[in-house]
Amino acid sequence: MKTCDLFKQKELVLSAEVFPPKKTGNLEGVIRALKSIKSVGPDFVSVTYGAGGEGADTTADVASIAIDAFGINTVAHMTAVNMTVGKLESQVEMLNRKGIENILVLRGDVCPTSRFFDFHHASDLAEYLSTRHPEFNLIGACYPEKHPEAKTLEEDIDNLKRKIDCGITHLITQLFLDNDKFFRFLELTAKKGITVPIEAGIMPMFSAKTLEHSVSLSDASVPAEFRKLKEENPDEKEFFERGIELAVEQINALIKGGARGIHLYTMNKGEIAERILPKFKK
Ligand code: FAD
Repeated sequence: MKTCDLFKQKELVLSAEVFPPKKTGNLEGVIRALKSIKSVGPDFVSVTYGAGGEGADTTADVASIAIDAFGINTVAHMTAVNMTVGKLESQVEMLNRKGIENILVLRGDVCPTSRFFDFHHASDLAEYLSTRHPEFNLIGACYPEKHPEAKTLEEDIDNLKRKIDCGITHLITQLFLDNDKFFRFLELTAKKGITVPIEAGIMPMFSAKTLEHSVSLSDASVPAEFRKLKEENPDEKEFFERGIELAVEQINALIKGGARGIHLYTMNKGEIAERILPKFKK
C-alpha cells in the first residue's frame, strides 16, 4: 500500500527502519530484525540505501524479503549521490518487479569518493520519478533542527517546500530528542504551506555510544533527561532499559501533541520495535 493512502485511513501511522548488510549475503541480522518487527504489525518498514550511493541491490533484496517473506508494507530508500538516469531506470525496473510502491528519495550521505551526475538534490530525484514513474509514491526526509548544510531553518524549509512541490506525499524527520523542536517545526512548515503528513523519527538511546554517535551526526539538541542519563552512565543493561523508557515517554508526548506518525530507527535491533510499538497500537 502507498503510504499516502495509509495516512488517509489512519489517525496514527507506526513504522520502523532497517538497514541492509554492506555486502550481498549476511542477511541473518536484518531478517531477525524483520521477524521481530513483523510480530508487532507496523504500518510499514523502510529499508535504507548505502552511504555514498552504494548498495541498490542489497536494499532491493531486503525490501523484497520484507514484502514477500513477511508481508510487510515496504518503502525502499534511494539516493541522488552517484546516481545516473541509466542506473535509476534499472533500479526502478527492479523495484517494480518486486512490487515495491514507495520510495524515500534522498540526496544521500556524501563520502569523500561521492560524485553527482544526473541528480543533485532529493528534489531532482522526486521530479524525475513523479514525471516518468508516477506509479511510485514518494517520501522525503526533513530536519526539525535544520539540515547541517543549511544556513538557517527558514532556508531549509524553503528548500523542503520545493521538494514537496516535486511530488513528495509524506515526510520523515531526522532523529530528534527535544519534542519542542518538532512542534515548532510543524508550525513553521504549516506556515510555508507544507500540508503533507510529517512522521517523527525516533531513535531510542539504548547505549552511551548510540547517544554520543547519533547526537554528533545529527546535531540534535540534548534535553536534560538525556544529559542526566549520559552523566550517570549506568551499566549496559540499565542504559538499554532507560533508553527505551525515555523513547516511550517522548513518543507519548508526541502523540498527545498531535504527531501523525512515529518512525522508529531500530538499528536492526528488533527488540526495540517489540518493546515500543505495541504500546501505541490502537
Ligand atoms: P536534500 O533534500 O537534497 O537537502 C540537502 C541540503 O540541500 C539541505 O541543506 C537543503 O536545504 C539543501 N537543498 C535542498 N534542495 C535544494 C535546492 N533545490 N537548492 C539548493 N539547496 C537545496 N542517507 C543515505 O545515504 N541513505 C539512506 O538510506 C538515508 N536514509 C535517511 C532517512 C531519513 C528519514 C533521513 C532524515 C535521512 C536519511 N539519510 C540517508 C541521510 C540523508 O541522505 C542526508 O541527511 C543528506 O545529507 C540529505 O538528504 P536529503 O534528502 O534531506 O537532501
